[in-house]
Amino acid sequence: MSQYNLPDLNSLVEDQIFHTINLNIWGIAVKESQTRVLTNGIINYPEINLLLPTCVYNGKYAVARKIPTVPSNDTPYKFENGIITYHGKRVFDENHIPVIPLQNGNPRNFKGYSLSFEGTESPFVELRINPKNTGNCPGRCLFCHRIYSYREKPKFTQSYYTPTEIINSIIKDYGENTIRKISHVSIITELYGNENKFIEFISQIKKELEKFRNDYFESFGACSQDVRTLKGMQKLYEIINPKKYSFTLETFTRREEIMGRYKGISMLEVKRILKNARKIGFKEIKINYVCGIDSYYDFEKNLTDLKELDLIDSIGISIFTAFFSDQLNLRHSEAYNIDYYLKIVKLIKKLGIKFYKPNCYEMGIPLKFLEY
Ligand code: SF4
Repeated sequence: MSQYNLPDLNSLVEDQIFHTINLNIWGIAVKESQTRVLTNGIINYPEINLLLPTCVYNGKYAVARKIPTVPSNDTPYKFENGIITYHGKRVFDENHIPVIPLQNGNPRNFKGYSLSFEGTESPFVELRINPKNTGNCPGRCLFCHRIYSYREKPKFTQSYYTPTEIINSIIKDYGENTIRKISHVSIITELYGNENKFIEFISQIKKELEKFRNDYFESFGACSQDVRTLKGMQKLYEIINPKKYSFTLETFTRREEIMGRYKGISMLEVKRILKNARKIGFKEIKINYVCGIDSYYDFEKNLTDLKELDLIDSIGISIFTAFFSDQLNLRHSEAYNIDYYLKIVKLIKKLGIKFYKPNCYEMGIPLKFLEY
């Protein structure tokens, strides 16, 4: 029988926001369970991408919510015929919640890139580049939601794409004109484990993409965990626009245990890297954080520390979501309660740290939640 023990709907946040967050915490049962068992016995809960009403931004941009599909005994949420129910009661007012399909069952970025807004009114707003799917990421994040990170080797497909291959693939699938329609480019990739190789890739793909345009992209950014030295940061500074250093910090505690030696460096080392970013003159230092693993106490203590040291300007938060059975234990007991997320949002505001408010964030805090 099910082990879930959800609090009743509370009045702290409106129902739609409550359910948006809870869908990431509990997952959704679809008609036919798609769970599969990996060779090591771990159960994988494949993603379903649903265009929830709370995903719509400015009435225009929307990107589907990435939600795990779990056996019906493990969640109070069901999805049938476009309708989501919670304990059998319908949630969300829309008559039909659309599903944005994967490509042949594979993640959409499996060809080295994805158009995050594909299937919506504005399919070419953002080009997301993800050149590596080797199954051997030097980050060993226990919370990783990618099937192919360090858990499994991808089969039958290429595991690395060069800039030319990515561009040729975009042209082949969508036409050359598409490159001129893109406003934002984001490089969010499996780690390179090598600063120079990462910088070489982003520099080259930018040059090649720009050959197809007479103007610049509105933004060209990268999650730059691999870039850690002053020299590397100087090069990064010259490539990206706006001048924002984006660092995937993810958690404050148990860092090496959760992310391995390369990515899970100590907070002391993290601070040294962020100080380098300040020295180079980045206008903004952005931290990416996975909400739901640290206790609120640890979050408060460490975030306040970073702020006092002037090492953080903005933060992007995602909600920890378990796509594999062994990840379920990572969630802190406090993070089953909506109040945990609310306190995090309020603290960020109180410290005067800017929220990163992307149009698209498949597991992010719903933008409306930031108004509380
Ligand atoms: S660095 Fe990213 S891709 Fe690599 S294991 Fe961690 S979360 Fe996954």
